[in-house]
Amino acid sequence: MSIRILPDLLINQIAAGEVVERPAAVVKELVENALDAGARRIEVDIEQGGLGLIHVRDDGRGIARAELHLALTRHATSKISSLEDLERVATLGFRGEALPSIASVSRFTLTSRVPEEAHGWSIVGGDAAPPRAAAHAIGTSVEVRDLFFNTPARRKFMRAESTEFRHVDQLLRRLLLSRQDLGMSLRHNGRRILEIAPVGAALGAAARVAEVCGPEFMSNALRVDEARQDLRLSGWVALPSFSRSQPDLQYLYVNGRMVRDKLLAHALRRAYADAMHSTRHPAFLLYLEIDPALVDVNVHPQKSEVRFRQSAQVHDFLFGGIHQLLRRVRPDPQQHHRVSIADSADSAEVSLWQGASRPLPFRAAAPAADNGVARPYRSPWPLYQQPVETLEPVAAAAVEAVRPVPPSETRNDGDAPLGRALAQLRGVFILAENRLGLVLVDAHAAHERVIYERFKADLARGSVPSQALLLPEAFVVGEIEADLLERRRDDLARLGIVLDRAGPASVLLRAVPPLLARSDLDGLLQRLSRDEADGGHIDEAVDAQHRVLADMACRAAIKANRRLTLPEMDALLRDMERTDLAGQCNHGRPTWVQIDAPELDRLFLRGR
Ligand code: ADP
Ligand code: MG
Repeated sequence: MSIRILPDLLINQIAAGEVVERPAAVVKELVENALDAGARRIEVDIEQGGLGLIHVRDDGRGIARAELHLALTRHATSKISSLEDLERVATLGFRGEALPSIASVSRFTLTSRVPEEAHGWSIVGGDAAPPRAAAHAIGTSVEVRDLFFNTPARRKFMRAESTEFRHVDQLLRRLLLSRQDLGMSLRHNGRRILEIAPVGAALGAAARVAEVCGPEFMSNALRVDEARQDLRLSGWVALPSFSRSQPDLQYLYVNGRMVRDKLLAHALRRAYADAMHSTRHPAFLLYLEIDPALVDVNVHPQKSEVRFRQSAQVHDFLFGGIHQLLRRVRPDPQQHHRVSIADSADSAEVSLWQGASRPLPFRAAAPAADNGVARPYRSPWPLYQQPVETLEPVAAAAVEAVRPVPPSETRNDGDAPLGRALAQLRGVFILAENRLGLVLVDAHAAHERVIYERFKADLARGSVPSQALLLPEAFVVGEIEADLLERRRDDLARLGIVLDRAGPASVLLRAVPPLLARSDLDGLLQRLSRDEADGGHIDEAVDAQHRVLADMACRAAIKANRRLTLPEMDALLRDMERTDLAGQCNHGRPTWVQIDAPELDRLFLRGR
């Protein structure tokens, strides 16, 4: 075949392959155009998952009659005119290829009216005829019918109608969250799916987010507002205990543009690292504002990726801000960790009277009275000074796993966030009473976190305190293992584990952190001699140390079936109130829940 220039239609269809991979991508381009045109309200009508019809109507500034055909011409845009413009794009679009691409793979109609005109004008994609008069309010409507009808190969890749629609729905939620002043309706096959008002007198920002993301997100969310030089981060992040099995509640906007960005995702993942299992995903809604000149948005045909000029700073800003915020959280039963035992009195009635063969539905309760804005918790408790640990023989220390209680704090804890201990249940849970009702604590998980954070703080200050064993103990670990332990000797000493090489395949353990019981030592050594990472990247080294500390904390934490006295339980509750990240174990499971009094009343159908 000789070389030839491709016809326009084919060029556009090739571009469409990149820009419009599925109906949701069409919706994205059309809604972004509406936003760029200053629309305040957008109506989206979908049929057959978008394959039958995508209709987007806006109340933006419209397209003049003389420019309608131009809008469907490749590389025609009103948004940039020079390289300088491209380098600080403030609009969502700038490539001038969405409309021609979409028009080339569908039956396409564009209707628009500018304020100066008394009515609108309409053109049909692929038809050079002059615009025809059409009734239309100020703004623009785009009608896309039979998407991919002329590109059967692409059509074959489309999934079920319901799947395609789910993508559209998720996409519109993302777009909705990008602008507070945007109202939107969405219909599928004539059925109303979304009707979201702009933030205003009737609807607060948090309430609107709750409508789009669900009330559970908001009732588990912390407000974010951080600024540094020319960076600003705002929005909400969910507590680690509200993790998801999929990254489906992750909304991130850079200057109002929704992005998927590996760097930012990594920063967030690290911010949650110590509080969430690596297979779980955090939930967040974050807005990053940055000088447009410092971001390159022209790196992806769908404009969903960006590149930062100073990526390390942006990463650290995001990581630092969220990490600190999560650490600063203290138990706030008014706001978080509330569970509802029954969705309604009726369902409680049903499950109780029918013998509750299925588990009672647990769900996060709706946000507390004030429109759901999570406020930062201010602890009434002065920061607690750790008493200097006295060095007792290990065996005794291990039994006294829970910190001794200073007398001044005993038994007047009714006003404390986590209340006053009442009893221990099944050797596992602590029952406590606070002003709101009942608090349930997973004693092992909570204690593990308390110890882990104490270990980490010790390490950050220098080293974890350790205590000499009454008699140094020899352990046979194998030759390779003994080599490894010997090589890591200094590092381990900082973690409170003091050992010497005793023979080709054995080590002599001389000192360990006081909380570790003798029975744990063998397992701990095995674990340590398996731990590969020693050195490498600084993060990895810290992570490896923290993994050891986490392992030690788990071994040191009170075990199931260990009987606790009330003062011991109170002491643990107080420790939790002072401890960073105490709301969840290292894997992100909650360490405590609040069941408030009305909930208990409801459960027993009181007052009805
Ligand atoms: P881009 O958005 O990259 O400029 P498009 O192909 O999406 O390219 O749109 C081409 C042009 O058509 C835009 O630059 C804009 O001037 C105009 N346009 C498209 N949609 C709308 C709309 N909903 N309201 C007003 N003008 C629009
Ligand atoms: Mg566009």
